[in-house]
Amino acid sequence: GVGVIVSPLIALMQDQVVALQQLGVKAAYLNSTLDAASANAIERQMEQGELDLLYVAPERLMTERFLNLLERAPLAMFAIDEAHCVSQWGHDFRPEYIQLSVLHERFPAIPRMALTATADAPTRREILRRLNLEQAGMYVSGFDRPNIRYSISQNQGNAREALLRFIRNEHEDDAGIVYCLSRKKVEQVAEFLSSKGLTALPYHAGLPSAVRQTHQRRFLNEDGVIIVATIAFGMGIDKPDVRFVAHLNMPKSIEAYYQETGRAGRDGQPANAWMMYGLQDVIMLRQMMESSDADETHKRVEHHKLQSMLGFSELTTCKRQALLTYFDDHLEKPCGNCDSCLSPVETWDASVVAQKALSCVYKTEQRFGVNYLIDVLVGKDNARIKQFGHDQVSVYGIGKELDAIQWRSIFRQLIARNLLSVDIEGYGNLRLTESCRSVLRGEETLMLRKETKAEKSKARGRKSKHNIKEEHNALWEALRACRKTLADEHKVAPYMIFHDASLMEMLEARPATPAQFSKINGVGEQKLKKYADAFLQVISQHEDEQVNPIDSEGTVEDTLRLFRTGLDVDAIAAQRDIKPATVYSHLIDSISQGDVELKQVVQLEPKEISLIQDTFLSLADDQHKLKPVYEALDGAFDYDLLRCVRASLN
Ligand code: ZN
Repeated sequence: GVGVIVSPLIALMQDQVVALQQLGVKAAYLNSTLDAASANAIERQMEQGELDLLYVAPERLMTERFLNLLERAPLAMFAIDEAHCVSQWGHDFRPEYIQLSVLHERFPAIPRMALTATADAPTRREILRRLNLEQAGMYVSGFDRPNIRYSISQNQGNAREALLRFIRNEHEDDAGIVYCLSRKKVEQVAEFLSSKGLTALPYHAGLPSAVRQTHQRRFLNEDGVIIVATIAFGMGIDKPDVRFVAHLNMPKSIEAYYQETGRAGRDGQPANAWMMYGLQDVIMLRQMMESSDADETHKRVEHHKLQSMLGFSELTTCKRQALLTYFDDHLEKPCGNCDSCLSPVETWDASVVAQKALSCVYKTEQRFGVNYLIDVLVGKDNARIKQFGHDQVSVYGIGKELDAIQWRSIFRQLIARNLLSVDIEGYGNLRLTESCRSVLRGEETLMLRKETKAEKSKARGRKSKHNIKEEHNALWEALRACRKTLADEHKVAPYMIFHDASLMEMLEARPATPAQFSKINGVGEQKLKKYADAFLQVISQHEDEQVNPIDSEGTVEDTLRLFRTGLDVDAIAAQRDIKPATVYSHLIDSISQGDVELKQVVQLEPKEISLIQDTFLSLADDQHKLKPVYEALDGAFDYDLLRCVRASLN
C-alpha cells in the first residue's frame, strides 16, 4: 500500500520526492504547485496502488475530495512529519495540525506515526495527546550532534566583519546559512558578503517567490552557496553538506536555535554553529515579546523560552551539556567541542558593579534606556543629564572604572539573568525585577563573564576544506566535478547523487571494481547501477596520473632523440632535468605510436611481456586499468613497466 506523509513543507516536497526516486522508491506529492492533469494522474496511481509514498500538506489532506481518495486507495500508513507543529507549547504551532485527529477517527485500522526533530518533554506529551497516540511506542533518539561545534560570542559592534573573518578562516567555498532577524539586515549582510567576493544570496518572505525559489535552488544545487535568511528559510531543508550555520541575531528559543543549527553537518562531517549577539538583540526580542498580541498563556511560554535562550547564550560551562539537558538528554562529561570547552571563559565577581548598575536604574526612576544609564554611571557631562538633574544623584560618575563597552556587557548580562527587564512601552527603558533584590542588597554574589576581544579569541587558523589531505585534493576535486556533471545530467542536487562523506570514502578506499564500489556507504543498488562507472573511471584515471604525472616540460621528440643515442631513462631525466616519470610518459607515447619498440624500452623477458599482456587482456576491461593488473601480478612489476606494456597493446 501507499504511505501517506503529512508535511507542511510544500516548497520542499519536490526535492524530497526526487531524492526518493533516486533511491528507487515510487514517491510522489500532491500540492498546489501541480496542474490539474498531473494531480489527477497521481491520484489515479495512488488508487491503483502504484505508489510507495505520497506527500501531502495538511490543508489538502483535510479536504473531502482527498479523504474520499484515501477511502479508495490501498493505505499502508500515515506519517505525520514535523509533528511538533501540533503543539501549542512547541515553537512552531500550526492550527491545521490539530485537525489531523481526523485520521484516526476515519481510518482507525491504518497505522500512524508522528515524527519530529525538535521537541522537549512537554511538547512530546502534547503531540501524543493531540494526535491520539497515547498508546503508541515512543522512540527518542539522542539529541546530541557531536560533529557540530557550538560557539556564541558577543557582538562588540563588528558582527559583520567577524562573520566574514569566520567564513574566510574556516569555511572558504563551503555552503552555509546566515540567519538575521529582519529583512533589511538580510539584504545588507548578503550584499556585504557578496561585495567581499562570496556567493551570498538573500532569502526572506518579502522577496518575490520566483527569486526565493531560484535562490533556494541554487543553494541546493550549487557548491559553496551561502544563504542569508530570516527564519523563513530552512525548515525541512535536507542539504547534507551545509558546513556552517551562523546567527547574527539571537533566536527566540533554544528549540529554534537547535533546529536552525541542526541544519549544519547532516552528513556527520565537522560543522560549525556560530552565533554573535549583543545587548540590542536582547532588548529587541524582549520588546517584541512584550508587545505581541498573543494571549497571556502563550506570552508566558514565550517569555520562559526566551529566558532559557538568554541563559544558554551567557553560559560559561559546556554548551552541549546544557543543550542536551534542556531536551532531557544527558552528556556525562563536557563535550570538548564547544566554545566553553575549547576556550574557557573567565568569570569575575561583579556583585559591586551590578549594584551600581541596578542603583542607577532605580535612582533615575526606571525611565531610561541603556545608553543614558551608562552616561550617568561614567559621569558624562551633557545637557540631557543636567536637564533631568541626574548630575546631582549619588550614582552620577560612580562607574568610571569601566568604559561604555564594558558597561553594555554588564547590562546585557543583567537582562539575560532577568535582574532587569525591558519596558513594554517600546522606548527600551530598563526596570528592576523582583529577582534583583538580593543582588542589590549585597546578599548574593554575582559572577559574570569576562568579555574577551572577539578579535583575538579562538582563532583556529585556516584549515583545509573538509580536512582533505593535500595530496588528495586533485582526486577530491575530480570526484566533485564528476558528481556535479551527473547531477546536472539527472537534474538533481549533487548531494542526491552522493554525499560528501561517500566521496571521502572513495578517496580513502579507491575502489577499482563495481563490487568494491558497492561497499562505499551511500551506494545502494540503484546508485551502483547508475553511477559506479563514472566514478570508477575518475578514480582509475587519477591513479594512472599519479603513478605517472604528465609533465609539460620537454617534448617527446627530445626524449626520443636521447633515447636513440642509447641513454637509459634515468640518464635522460638527468640530462634534461625532468622527472624520470616524464621520460617514461614520453616513451610510452612513442610505444603506442609505434615509434619505439616495447623491448627497447623495458628490460623484460619476452615471456614476462606476454604474461603482463595476457593479464591486461584477461581482466576484460577495456580501460586497461593498472591497479587490478598490478595486484593480479602480486606487485612483481612496477607501474612504469605496466604502463609501457599497456601502451604496446594499442
Ligand atoms: Zn562543551
